[in-house]
Parts: sequence; C-alpha cells; structure tokens
Amino acid sequence: MTDMEGADLFRLIAAHDGAHAFDAVVPPIAQTSLFTFSSFAEMEETYLGQRTRPVYSRGLNPTVRLFEEKLAALEGAEDAMGFASGMAAISSAVLAFASPGDRIVAVRHVYPDAYRLFEILLKRMRIDVTYVDGRDEEAVAKALPGAKLFYMESPTSWVMEAHDVGALAALAKRHGVLTMIDNSWATPVFQRPISLGVDLVIHSASKYLGGHSDVVAGVVAGSKALIREIRAETYPYLGGKMSPFDAWLLIRGLRTLPIRMKAHEADALAIARWIGERPEVASVQHPGLGNGLPPGLSGTSGLFSFTFHDEIDVPRFVDALKLFKLGVSWGGHESLCVPGQVVLSQNQGPNSGHAFGISAKSVRLHVGLEGAANLIADLDAALAA
Ligand SMILES: *Cc1c(COP(=O)(O)O)cnc(C)c1O
Repeated sequence: MTDMEGADLFRLIAAHDGAHAFDAVVPPIAQTSLFTFSSFAEMEETYLGQRTRPVYSRGLNPTVRLFEEKLAALEGAEDAMGFASGMAAISSAVLAFASPGDRIVAVRHVYPDAYRLFEILLKRMRIDVTYVDGRDEEAVAKALPGAKLFYMESPTSWVMEAHDVGALAALAKRHGVLTMIDNSWATPVFQRPISLGVDLVIHSASKYLGGHSDVVAGVVAGSKALIREIRAETYPYLGGKMSPFDAWLLIRGLRTLPIRMKAHEADALAIARWIGERPEVASVQHPGLGNGLPPGLSGTSGLFSFTFHDEIDVPRFVDALKLFKLGVSWGGHESLCVPGQVVLSQNQGPNSGHAFGISAKSVRLHVGLEGAANLIADLDAALAA
C-alpha cells in the first residue's frame, strides 16, 4: 500500500457516513421498492425535476446511493452507479456509448463474459471489437484511430497481463477515444485509474469490494457527465439495478477492504514465490514477480496463476487440496482454485478458454485469508499426493 496510506483510505470509506436513524453506527437498509409522496405538489415537483428524492428503487435508493458515494470517493471519481452484477455494469456502460457501426478496441484476455458480450451481443448489433496486447503500446496506438471506445482490464484475470494504464489512457485521449477499465483485480487500494486519466472505472463488486462471497453486484465510477449518460441511456431500460441489501453488504465489506487487500497481497506473494521454486512448476503468472509493477499499480491482490510441467497430473493435484476449494469467482475470504483444463473443456468459439490465454496445465489460485503457512502446507501435501 504505497500511494495511499490506511488513514486516507479510511477517510474515503467513511465518506458520506451521516447520522443514521436511532444513532445507529451502521446505516439502515432502505429495503423498499417505492417511496410515497405527502402531497400532489411534492409529487409534481419531483416529476418536474425541481427536487431530487427517491421515487422507485430502480431509479434511486438511499442505501444504494450511500454505497455509490463511498465507491466514488475511493476511486477519486465525481460519481458512481451501482448495478446488479459486474456484467450489468459492463454491458450498461459499453452500450451507453457504442452504437451500430462503431468499433471498440479491447485488451486481449478480458473477463470471459465481457468477451462473450463483445463477440455475441455486440457483433449482432454490428459493433466490431478488435483485441490488442495491452503491453504493446505500438499495437494499441495503431488500433485506436477511429475507435469509439477502448476497453481495458489490468491486470487481466487469468494470465495477469499488467499494463501501463496511464500511458494507454494518454494514447486513447490523443485519439479522442473514451476509456473504460475493469479494476476488479487491483481495487482502488492498489490502482486508481481515474487519477491515471481513465474515463470510467468498472468493478465486479462480487469480488474484493464485497469480500465475503455473499454478493453479486457491480459498479461504474466516472465523471458526473458520463455517469449521467449511463443513468439516462441504458440503465433504466436494461434494469440491472443493485439491490438495497446487496448495497448494505457492500458498505460493510468496504470497511475492511484495505486490511483484506494487504493480507491477500502478502500471502499471495509468499505462495507465488514458494510455488515458483517447486520442480513441478514451469512458470508463475503473478504481476508482483519479475520486473516490478507497471506505473500506477501500487500493490498486488490474491489472484494469480501458475503452470505445471507437462507430466504433472492436474486433476490429482486439485483433488488432493483441502483448503483451496474448487470454485470460480474470487475476492472472498476463502481460497479457491480453477484448473485451466476444465475451462478449456467448454465449447469452442466464444466459450473457448484459448481466448483468455488459458493453457491446460495452468491452475488459477485465489489466496484467501486462511494464512500463508496453512495454505502452503495444503499445496505441499497436494503436490506430494
Ligand atoms: C467476475 C468478474 C466480472 C463479472 O462480474 P459479475 O459480478 O460476476 O457479473 C467482471 N470482470 C472480472 C475481472 C471478474 O472477475
């Protein structure tokens, strides 16, 4: 945690914590679909836009709004908007700005369902997507002219390609291309893309922001003007609304985000270094190993991959793990493991794991909060099996 100390993060997370009913230390949940008016005049003024107040929870809900304000503060953004899932955030943001005939440039190996959104739904809408290696700034510069949108994810969530986000954002700005980044892996604790010149920051809040594997949610942060466009153009009609209860769980999750990220970082680095020394392992894909982090990324999280030598029996290894559970997603308290081989066994086309840089001998780990020594003992026992 180098660029933002704990005290600053605490201040941002506490942002907008007003006085709550009954002096409760935790904000209440406004678990309601609608809000009533006291008079015709109040209702009419609200409809005329002369006053802002909740009307219906698909539009504005106080608990969701509190989460949005905290997340905007953490990302250093003017505004933010919550969604029912990370994919609702991604689809609503992309579709607010891309129209038939437009071209999107995306870094390669983006989150699989974002890739399928591009390849299946956007192609059907005659929106073309081209993919570039985000580490190759020349290739990015070549692809950008004429594009409507540059979609980034850094680091990517399987092979962990990490980009110089500030340099890429500057390139896009030079060509007048709107930029978006999926910041789920780093969180604002380790990467604040708005300060690096990116226009819109997206999260799957199902991962670290929630942090307890009990919420599916998403959020987009950016300027008031861009968030207003999403709020007006796609969000009301696609309807991927964040629920008040999920917002309440996310507010709870945010309070421990800096401490959790520090623990994920330290333990994942210890495990990545340990596993890299093992004779069974050919390579480790972790941005914190090797040549240092790209500018703008001040730390690393708990998600990384490694690749076994060909002769290793991956199914036998993963079946022998006890603390690392077999499961998708990540960002919670628990350690998880996904063998590349099962991802590759899905159908070809947009479902093929090959599009994400996944190889059959690779294994993705999410290092949870069980402690590095316990997790290393678990891996050690499974390697012996
Ligand atoms: C999980 C994930 C998403 C999608 O988020 P959901 O909340 O599952 O819809 C997007 N990007 C990344 C990097 C993810 O890991």
